[in-house]
Amino acid sequence: MRRNPVVAIDGPSGVGKSTVAKGVAAQLQFQFVDTGALYRAVALAAYKNGINWEDGNAVAREAETHSFCFDSSGNLAMDDVFVGDSIRTPHMSEGASTVAKHPEVRAALLDIQRQLGKDGGVVLEGRDIGTVVFPDAEKKFFLTASIRERARRRHLQLLEKGENVTIEEIEKAQVVRDERDSNRAVSPLKKADDALEVDCETKSADEVIQLITYSVVSSH
Ligand code: C5P
Repeated sequence: MRRNPVVAIDGPSGVGKSTVAKGVAAQLQFQFVDTGALYRAVALAAYKNGINWEDGNAVAREAETHSFCFDSSGNLAMDDVFVGDSIRTPHMSEGASTVAKHPEVRAALLDIQRQLGKDGGVVLEGRDIGTVVFPDAEKKFFLTASIRERARRRHLQLLEKGENVTIEEIEKAQVVRDERDSNRAVSPLKKADDALEVDCETKSADEVIQLITYSVVSSH
């Protein structure tokens, strides 16, 4: 029995999981773990070493050669170097969802995620936290919003970072990513039966943060 809960927040890309999970973790003074950052960092490392993202075994071997850790604000360091925004480009979004479909790659990253959450007091966000990584998480949430709204939010984020992409390009890329994430054979994006679904279409990030924080606090 963990003294503090594991909070699992899953959902499709662009729904605002990172902002929400980070906000909830700050309110509860829990560790924030962005599991997508691990897949992105592995895609980046493979790319730098000339490994084809379609080669699951080679990418998994690459993943195993690196160390990963998150600081108290949830920033990821690979081999003790912060990866920062180098993993946040549309190219690495594509790479992350490509490497994430391989069972070998998912297996290589599973233990790391479980280690990070094993003592509780942690908010993990991703696609399969409530179904595979922590099926026994004390609190599970699944965030949803329409593809249009998710593309609009991601577009704003990328504009702020100076990326020059249109909303139509983002929407197209997200449809491909959603399709790949939802239909892969292992750990597809899926709501856990015991997760609370939160429709984020018309809610602000703050409203969702309050709703989830209240739900966690009131049951512990
Ligand atoms: O959440 P984010 O967009 O950063 O994740 C990048 C990609 O990593 C996703 O499109 C998904 O394919 C993969 N991912 C995953 N399982 C997770 C987290 C992310 O498959 N738990």
